[in-house]
Amino acid sequence: MIKTICVLGSTGSIGVQALDVARKRGFRVAALTANSNVDVIEAQIREFKPEYAALADEAKAAELKIKVSDTPTEVLSGREGVIECARIGADAVLNGIVGIAGLEPTLAAIEAGSVLALANKESLVTAGALVMKTAREKGVPVLPVDSEHSAIFQSIQGCADRKQIKKLILTASGGPFYGKSREELKNITLEQALAHPNWSMGAKITIDSATMMNKGLELIEAAWLFDMSPDRIEVLVHRQSIVHSLAEFSDNSVIAQLGVPDMRIPIQYALTYPDRFESPAAELDLTQCGALTFTRPDDSTFRCIDICRAALSKGGLYPAAVNAANEKANALFRAGKTGFWDIQESVEKALSLSLPEGEYTLEDVLETDRAVREERQGVI
Ligand code: NAD
Ligand code: MG
Repeated sequence: MIKTICVLGSTGSIGVQALDVARKRGFRVAALTANSNVDVIEAQIREFKPEYAALADEAKAAELKIKVSDTPTEVLSGREGVIECARIGADAVLNGIVGIAGLEPTLAAIEAGSVLALANKESLVTAGALVMKTAREKGVPVLPVDSEHSAIFQSIQGCADRKQIKKLILTASGGPFYGKSREELKNITLEQALAHPNWSMGAKITIDSATMMNKGLELIEAAWLFDMSPDRIEVLVHRQSIVHSLAEFSDNSVIAQLGVPDMRIPIQYALTYPDRFESPAAELDLTQCGALTFTRPDDSTFRCIDICRAALSKGGLYPAAVNAANEKANALFRAGKTGFWDIQESVEKALSLSLPEGEYTLEDVLETDRAVREERQGVI
């Protein structure tokens, strides 16, 4: 039973919702970390009174240290400070950091033996083999927070033999541009790309949803979490975001998890697994949902799912390379420096790099990430 938790990325969309679950379930919050948002983390420190807090931005950490000097919380700083908080040995570490910045904290939490409640999909995308191997060696469970993966995890409870799972079906909302042609989407603005129809999330993942890269990243994430080959993971567009994903078994029975689109359901399940408790999320009223529809994604316009599937099949450092190309191109688009379709093109280019396909170390992953970002920056 989880009693103490550490929330990484506490000022973000997932972090704030995780703290809402913590507040209602009465978890003790032992550590909080974020990148640079001093005001929000200060308020969180005053409410939850953690032993440790960290900001990755060193100047902001110095500012925070002064602001909370009247509290018992010890403020750490920089990348190292965040990693330090991940390894304090809380019962569970909820990783809600965005991007590959979450990878080292993921590994630190596992090394410390904490249950890992993982929202940071980029950890598994960039270094899935390493993360899952370390978790196996340490006997640490990696519990999904991503709604699709939580749905699959819930749907396969009671299936002891993975060979009985024929395929996994990830649902995708299709984002704001579903059904539009490339021609119609020629001059997309940042504002249009940030208008997600069903979920309110951080900016990076919202753009990932508009490009469909989010579903590509989730395909890689599912492959590692559930030990499935890429050809056994399908994607279906489900505009209503009520059926969060499905598993099909060898007898053609299909099991799904449904619920209102509220991340506090999968966050709470990861922190209370295998138990269930009352939730802050609303009840699902199926009579109010209208028709639930399922269609194939338009893979010729939105190429990112196929690109991620290919990166996973090539293996080695290819998933880390496509992730880095995406993170950089996504950030450049959000900064108004490049266009929407440059993201997909960057990701596709990363697939044709010449990279090792076999085993890799953490350093290999970080070096690939650095090199691909540098190359992308040079294109501007
Ligand atoms: P967000 O941008 O709202 O929050 C990100 C958090 O990470 C913030 O607290 C920020 O301070 C912190 N952070 C950013 N850069 C950092 C760095 N270099 N070092 C340390 N901390 C840093 O993002 P989000 O929407 O909450 O998403 C977080 C993760 O969860 C992502 O991997 C995303 O794909 C995944 N996820 C999010 C949702 C959702 O509903 N928001 C759903 C499923 C999965
Ligand atoms: Mg998801």
